[in-house]
Amino acid sequence: MKFICDDMLGTLAKWLRILGYDTRYGAKNDDELLKISKQENRVLLTRDKNLYERTKNKSSSLYIKSMSLHEQLVLVLHKTGIKISKDKSLSRCIICNIPLENKRKSEIREDVPPYPFQHHERFWKCPKCNRVYWKGSHWTTMYDRIQRILKELN
Ligand SMILES: [Zn+2]
Repeated sequence: MKFICDDMLGTLAKWLRILGYDTRYGAKNDDELLKISKQENRVLLTRDKNLYERTKNKSSSLYIKSMSLHEQLVLVLHKTGIKISKDKSLSRCIICNIPLENKRKSEIREDVPPYPFQHHERFWKCPKCNRVYWKGSHWTTMYDRIQRILKELN
């Protein structure tokens, strides 16, 4: 399942990418959002009720009223039934929305601060923007939060 978020859902878009889902963000206007959603078979996530009403196929769009990221995620997980897994998460660049490449420690030595370099074994690099990712404390906190949301849904 792929997504496209409107301009009011930038943080949600980032999180969906963290979870490994192909999520577009930053369309020029409503027409473009609708067009991309249809052409690329993406579920449109929007806080704009009027835009939601304009989508012909309601099963390919989701109206998200809440401003809370937590509630937004709960709704998306609940309505779409997407699966969250530790393997799939952190597989996609949060900025570029493209798949990351696995890297050996020797390959990213120059790109990572000493502490994470010493304390982690697995690293991923974006082939486009060259950002390097690892499953540090920030990721662990995020993943725990997601796990709690999933528990609430069951
Ligand atoms: Zn990138």
